[in-house]
Parts: sequence; C-alpha cells; structure tokens
Amino acid sequence: MPVHLRQWYPARSPNEAKDAGIAPPGDCVTGDFVTGDIVTDDFVPEISAMPAIMGYPNSLSPSRTNDFLTCPMLYRLRTIDRLPEEPSLAAIRGTLVHRALEWLFDLPAPERTIEATGALLDKAWQELQETSPAEAEALCVQLAGSVDEAQADARTITTQILAPAEPLLRTYFAMEDPTRLDPAARELAVRAQLDAGLVLRGFVDRLDRNSNGDVRIVDYKTGRSPGSGFETKAMFQMRFYALTWWRMTGEIPRLLQLLYLGNSEVLRYQPDVDDLRATERKILAIRAAIAASADSGTFAPNPGRHCDWCSFRSVCPAWGALPIPLPDRSTWPATRDLETTPAVAPQLIERVRSIRDGIEE
Ligand code: SF4
Repeated sequence: MPVHLRQWYPARSPNEAKDAGIAPPGDCVTGDFVTGDIVTDDFVPEISAMPAIMGYPNSLSPSRTNDFLTCPMLYRLRTIDRLPEEPSLAAIRGTLVHRALEWLFDLPAPERTIEATGALLDKAWQELQETSPAEAEALCVQLAGSVDEAQADARTITTQILAPAEPLLRTYFAMEDPTRLDPAARELAVRAQLDAGLVLRGFVDRLDRNSNGDVRIVDYKTGRSPGSGFETKAMFQMRFYALTWWRMTGEIPRLLQLLYLGNSEVLRYQPDVDDLRATERKILAIRAAIAASADSGTFAPNPGRHCDWCSFRSVCPAWGALPIPLPDRSTWPATRDLETTPAVAPQLIERVRSIRDGIEE
C-alpha cells in the first residue's frame, strides 16, 4: 500500500527552512527514531504540586480547546454541564486501535506482527467491556437495536465493531515497521504549567527519541487526513503537545508526525521556538475567551457542519431547543480535577472523546 507523505511548512518553504538553518525534513525519516526507553511516567510533574491559575478554566487539553473554538455551546454542554453522550462506534473503534498499537510495543520486536496486533485488538475490546461496561453495552445496544438482541447476537456485534479496524492495522504496518522502533513512551500523560498559571494537559500516543537525542511526537488517526489547506487545524493538537513537552523538559521536539490510518497519509511538521511561542499565545487567548464566556454566563452556539456529529442537537438552542440554565458556578467541575480522578473509566471516556474529535474535525 503506498504511503503518502506531506511535509508541511506553514510559514516557509523547504528552501526557506534550509536558509533559516532548520534541518531538512529528510533527516527525520522513520528509521532514524529507533532507540529510546528514556521517558517514564515518573517524569510527569504532579498537577497537584502546581499553583492553579486563578479563575476558570485553570487547565486545558487540545480537545477541550478545540471544542470551544468549534462551538462555545458545545464546550459548555460537554465540560460544564457534562451531559452524557452516546458512544460513537468510530470513536470506540479508534480507542481500540490505539490500545492495540500501544500494547504492540510491549512485545519483543520479532513478535510485533499483524496477527499479534489482531489479538491485541480483541484484548482491547475485552478491556473496554470490563473498565467501561456502560459505554460498551450502550454501543452494542445501539448496533443491535435492543438489549435482548445485543445479548443474543454478541458475537456478530463484536465482529461488527472489530472487523473494520483490521484494515486500519494493516495500513499501519504498511506505514511503519514496528520491529525497528523502540518508543521512549506510549500513551504518555503530559502536563505543564505556563508562566500565566494555566496547566496544559493531554495524552501523547507515542514519543520516540533517536540516537542523537531528538524527540519525535507521533499521533495515530484512524480517520482520513485533512484536505489541503486544513493542516493548520489538524496540527494544532500536535503543537499543543510540543509546547507542553517544551515547558516540561526545555526540549523542542524535532518532529511532529500524524499517521492517518484511514488513507495511509503522513503529515509532518518541524516546530521551532517562534511556532511554540505563537501556540502559547493562541492558547492563552482562547483561555481568556473561555473565561470571558464563563464570567458573562454566555456560551453562544455556533451552528455549522460540525452539528451533524454533535451529541447535543436535541438540547441546543440553535436547533430549536429551549436554553438550559447554566449550572451554578460553584458546581462547575474544576478542570484540573478531571486529570486526577483515579478511576479508569473517566480516562477512557476522555480518550474516546479526544479520538472522536480527531476523526470528526
Ligand atoms: S448542535 Fe451545533 S451549535 Fe449546538 S452545541 Fe452542537 S455544535 Fe454547537
């Protein structure tokens, strides 16, 4: 299967990058990032040890930031009201693929085969049923039409969920050779506090370090790559992670890489100091806009094409619903608490949400 690579220079051409002294992108091919094992979860500073920014919100992840940019009402209903959402088949399938690819690197290199990954996919589905039974059951009922049918035909439903994930895994093996990789970290929780006090948080799918010590941040997408001209939006999440990593460690990642398993395309970007400073300014501006909405109690709907996959149309004023009163501010969940919840299920749900956002945006 052919792999399409798009090197992406938002502010300069490859020649300009070369003139500016930035290493040519050809230096960062996949095979360069084969050694690692440097980063562990112990490395992540505790949020509880950080002074919180005064006011709301005191922390942001790429998903929640994107929610607000897409539609302030969506942000409010998901983050403040915390209304339940129906699990999306594509998002749950994406979660399972991510889990299988995470576990793949627990195996000795010669055992990292496509067959082994298929078995890990089954294991991921079992894990999801055990750790998030309500979400797994809701999905099965959604597919089968009723609880009884879901129970009676569990095997068919499982096939319906897992079978479309297999081509995505085959595409992954066409894009990378996992036997040549030794990731420094997988599913790494990253957290850092900006000087302004805001905590940035998120999960990095994979972090590689090459023999020169250069860091590459990799994210898997189970959907298709964005069309030409939409790379900036797609890469925002990666620049967010790069900024967080820079603030955590003082290192600027050499390469940010999105692997689109839906159409076998790679999107790559080399960040620099100016990019990351601009990203920080953008995040702080969005944080200020969220704070202004919170202070005025106004989270305006922003209807558009994205409403087609929004879970909240039935309660959205833009779609004819009566406005729901904003919950009393004293009851709003503190955003930093979302990260410190010990239960597995909320983390999985957060992961499903961020993967869904990646697919649908
Ligand atoms: S339906 Fe559309 S306008 Fe309403 S909350 Fe969802 S995305 Fe926003």
